[in-house]
Order: sequence, then structure tokens, then C-alpha cells
Amino acid sequence: MKKSFVWQIIAAFILAIIVGLIFGERTSFVQPLGDLFLRLIKFIIVPLILATIVVGVTSAGDIKKLSRLGGKTISYYLVTSFIAISIGLVAGFLIQPGTGADVTVDDTAAAPAETEGVVDTLLNIIPTNPIEALTTGNVLQIIFFAIFLGIGITLVGEKAAPVQRFFDGLAEIMYKITALIMVLVPFGIFGLLAPIVGEHGISVLLPLIKLILAVLIACVIHAGIIYSLAVKSLGKMSPLHFFKGIFPAAAVAFSTSSSSGTLPVTMKNTQENLGVSKETSSFILPLGATINMDGTAIYQGVAVVFIAQYFSAELTLTQIMMVALIGTLASIGTAGVPGAGLIMLTMVLAAINLPLEGIALIAGVDRVLDMMRTSVNIMGDASASVVVEASERKREAKAG
Ligand code: ASP
Repeated sequence: MKKSFVWQIIAAFILAIIVGLIFGERTSFVQPLGDLFLRLIKFIIVPLILATIVVGVTSAGDIKKLSRLGGKTISYYLVTSFIAISIGLVAGFLIQPGTGADVTVDDTAAAPAETEGVVDTLLNIIPTNPIEALTTGNVLQIIFFAIFLGIGITLVGEKAAPVQRFFDGLAEIMYKITALIMVLVPFGIFGLLAPIVGEHGISVLLPLIKLILAVLIACVIHAGIIYSLAVKSLGKMSPLHFFKGIFPAAAVAFSTSSSSGTLPVTMKNTQENLGVSKETSSFILPLGATINMDGTAIYQGVAVVFIAQYFSAELTLTQIMMVALIGTLASIGTAGVPGAGLIMLTMVLAAINLPLEGIALIAGVDRVLDMMRTSVNIMGDASASVVVEASERKREAKAG
């Protein structure tokens, strides 16, 4: 990765803050620049996910390897998400963001949304019409379809070879388009970030500053300790190299608040800067962008404690354990789009009988929390790719 690119991103950040502070709410005039970038990266997602997962599955070669890869990935995702929510809970109890928070419930801010039950959510992963899944951009359903396409291609063998080559080609084309769009990353970051800075003046953030700090500290601890340990001990990679390599994607995640939207950049960084093979990353990253949300898990932990403290509700040990468990599931069910975590928080609050109005308390600063959690979300996916890749390589070295 070119050093100048990193500096361009940093410059975009600084410029966005300056312009946002100077123009305040009027900064929305740069929004079209942000929207342009957002649309450009979004338009690659559906074909990218479809093609890369098919390639990921077919290049695994056999179902046994695929299940091994899937098993390792999902175990890593579950364990890190559980650790994340635990760190969030501890941060909440130590920092006490809800005591002395100077906010009132704003009923107009966000009505608690209905969330699906666990069974329906799981059933919904299976598309009844895969073409509809593609046209509506239902990522989990697309992943399901792509995995089965890949398995089918592998099982059929010779006759399916042209289809496999088609997806190989499509994946390469989508990588190329990603590379073209990457040039615009600093402009996109500026266009997205400046209006947010303009809109969220210090006065909006101040009453909930303890909440923001608690989420920030928990995110830094999770990334700084858990990912560092994971990539160092399991992935045999220097943490500094890891964080440097994933920085552009983390910056895009920070400004877009969408793991799915960031996926093309996450894939590019993971492959080119972290040296993870296309086979491994094209399977692990789209899956991670959809189901692995460590930042969201952290946020759920802190938010629940915040809301309990605000309403002076004492949390029992059973409730805390419920939060850890349901919060992990809720983070899996969270879509990789802006604000999804806030909606899923309803599920956790309902499970332990906390007032759902708590959602409205947080809504005003949720965008800022979303930026932090989304950056952690995509770093978690990248760390999984590094760890699983290293373990596969070790296995191959032993076998060969
Ligand atoms: N915006 C987050 C993401 O895309 C999800 C969330 O709202 O927690 O990763």
C-alpha cells in the first residue's frame, strides 16, 4: 500500500473536521460527494459477494475443506463476539455512562422497531427465490445461494467447469472495478464525514459524552488487545502490520457506517496488504461483513448498562448473562448497514425487560457510535481471515 494513500485519508479526515466545524449544518453541500462514493461502492457489492463466494467455495476444492474452513471461521466469530460484548459490559459497569447523563427521552427520535424472532431470522436465510435475493440485495440469502452454487459446481465437476470459469472471471472483474473506485476513497471519506461533523456539534455529543467514551474505550481495548493477540499468536503477524494494512478499510467503515458497503475495500486490503489468499478471504470476509459484528456486540453491552443506569434499574447476574448471550446473537443478526445495531438493541432490551424508550435516548448520537463500531466490525473480519489463513497454511505445510 502506498504511504501517500494513507496520508490522503488522514488529510481527508482533518479537512472534514475543519470544514464541518466551520460550516456547521450547511456542510451538507458536500454530501453529494459522499453519496457518489457510497453509490459507487454499493453497486459492486451484490456481484462481488456472489462471485467471490462461489470462487471461495469452489477453490476450497472439497466439501471437507469447506466445512473445516467454515467451522474455524464461525468459531472465531462466535468467540470474539462473546468477548466483545463482555468487554462492553465491563466498560459500562466501570465507566457508568448512564449515571448523570443529561438527556431526556426524545419520543420522535426513534420508535422501537419490531424485530423478527430467532427462528424466522434463521429460516429467512434460505431464499425462496435466489434471483429476488440478488435484486433486493439480501446479503445473507445471497451468501446461502452462492455457497450452494459453489458446492454444486464442485460436485458436478467437469460439466460445470464453464460456470466456474464464469464466476472466476466475474470475481476478477469486480476486484478490478474495486481498484478503480479505491482512488476515490479520500474524497468519499471527506464527503461523508464533513456533514456528520457539521451536524453533530459538540452540544449534541456532550450530554452523552460518557457513553461515547465508554464505547470508544471498549472498542480500542477489543481491537488493541484481542485482535493484536489473535493476529500475533494465531496468525503469526505483527499487530502493527495488521492495523496499518487494514487502516484504509477501517477509515471507510468509519465514514460509511456500513460493513457491507466497506466489503470491497476490506477484501482489497486483506488480500494486498495482509497477504491473505483470495480463496480464504473471499469466503470469510463476505460472511463476516454480514454476521460478525464485534463492534456492534461491544455497543450492545455498553448500551444496555447505560439504559439500565439511566432508568436506575439494577441488573441481576442472570440478566447480565442473558445480555451476553442474546447480544451475541443480536450482533449476528445485525445487517451490515448504518443504524442496524440500534434496531437490534430492541431485541436485547426486550429480553431483559428494560424500557424500550432507551433506544430513543441513544438515537441522537447513534451515528457516532455506529462509526466506531463499524470500524471494529470490519477489523474483526480481517483478523479472522489472517488467523484462519495461517492455520490452513500450517496444516498444508504439515501435510506436504
Ligand atoms: N453499521 C454497522 C455495520 O454495518 C452495524 C450496526 O449498526 O451495528 O457494521
